[in-house]
Amino acid sequence: MLIRNATAIMTGRSGHGSELARAEGGDLRIDAAGRIAAIGRLQPEPGERVLDATDCVIYPGWVNTHHHLIQSLQKGVPAGINLPLLGWLDAVPYKLRGKFDAELLSLAAEIGMVELMLSGCTTIADHHYVYWPGMGYDPAQVLFDMAQRLGVRFVLCRGGATQQRAFELEDPNALPPETLEGIIQDVERLVHRYHDAGAESMRRIVLAPSTPNWSLHVDELRPTAAAARRLGIRLHSHLSETADYVSFCREKFNRKPVEFVADHDWLGSDVWFAHMVHLSPSEIAMLAETGTGTAHCPASNCRLGSGVAPAPALARAGAPVSIGVDGAASNEAADSLSEVHTCWYTHRAVGGADAVTVEDVIHWGTQGGARVLGIDNIGSIECGRAADLAVYALDQPRYAGLHDPAIGPVASGGRARLRWLTVQGRVVVEDDAIPGLDMSDLMARARRAVVRLNA
Ligand SMILES: [Zn+2]
Repeated sequence: MLIRNATAIMTGRSGHGSELARAEGGDLRIDAAGRIAAIGRLQPEPGERVLDATDCVIYPGWVNTHHHLIQSLQKGVPAGINLPLLGWLDAVPYKLRGKFDAELLSLAAEIGMVELMLSGCTTIADHHYVYWPGMGYDPAQVLFDMAQRLGVRFVLCRGGATQQRAFELEDPNALPPETLEGIIQDVERLVHRYHDAGAESMRRIVLAPSTPNWSLHVDELRPTAAAARRLGIRLHSHLSETADYVSFCREKFNRKPVEFVADHDWLGSDVWFAHMVHLSPSEIAMLAETGTGTAHCPASNCRLGSGVAPAPALARAGAPVSIGVDGAASNEAADSLSEVHTCWYTHRAVGGADAVTVEDVIHWGTQGGARVLGIDNIGSIECGRAADLAVYALDQPRYAGLHDPAIGPVASGGRARLRWLTVQGRVVVEDDAIPGLDMSDLMARARRAVVRLNA
């Protein structure tokens, strides 16, 4: 397949080589294995499918490293719309999670994945945390089935907890916690069934208790890390999202949160944490030294009033930075373009005009995500890489008048129309639509589900 005549190509690389202008050739060839075979000025070969990308710009497919797809049916809940993290957790995700069965989870996953795909996202890491003993359905099967149907790469971060949060103790409908043994047994089953460790993996499993602070007993942290390493999978969790993480670690252990997790073997290039808003310079240095990754979630952090993560400082120190949209209950615009646009704005607002560039946030959202997830052959446009590509048509007034069209999808915000989205060279979005998906039916099912969740 040949994609021809694009106005520009953003490569996902940082610094020099981040953008290929048309002068260098806006053509890109995809081989039969779904990899980028050539970039430049190319002529069609006999029998080759040709996609005309005139007036389009090509990006690497976005890599979303932190999400809670189940929350795609929990947007804008009035009881939580003006609350900070803790009150919001109690009022929205924890209040609603026990109402989800396989059907509702499948619909939430469909909504969230479709929303992401239509923004140009090709890899989704979902931190799914709703489990209880004897729950009667297998969330992994629901989520992997939907990802396979839609054709995206999917990383299941298997969450869960062995103890309840303080606010759950007063809730008569609170879900009973699991045992660590039960969680690890389930993760072993999932690894055996789904995990592909390859460089172009479509399916990964990650061990991901919801928080190291409150989801596990302290003496379970080290065995959890050991189990992940024995299984050859990554570790993920939330950390330092609010100042509560810092005060908890200081009051209980006289440590900073990153020091606390380091004490329990929870740092390394096989670990990434969502948020990392409240970090000290010494913690940033520890993350850089150990190669521990961050899923930066600027929109959710803004929405919940949690603060602004020092992502530019992490990147300058050499720590891996990626971007996650977080769950839609705390980010009603849980799509990749909204997220990177917010990211670009937020850091310039607080850090000055030289805090981040458009190329920086594209790098974090693509190659940065590939590094954090350890899926090495995605996230950038280079010969030999998997052809996960978002081809944007800048044909709305918002994108008219751009002197550098390449930066339009990020700098102008909004949702650029997606001419094509490919995953490993396979077209999964065409003309801004997912083949076989009835959008009005999806919207109707979502409305009915909201009624059901409020019953
Ligand atoms: Zn989260």
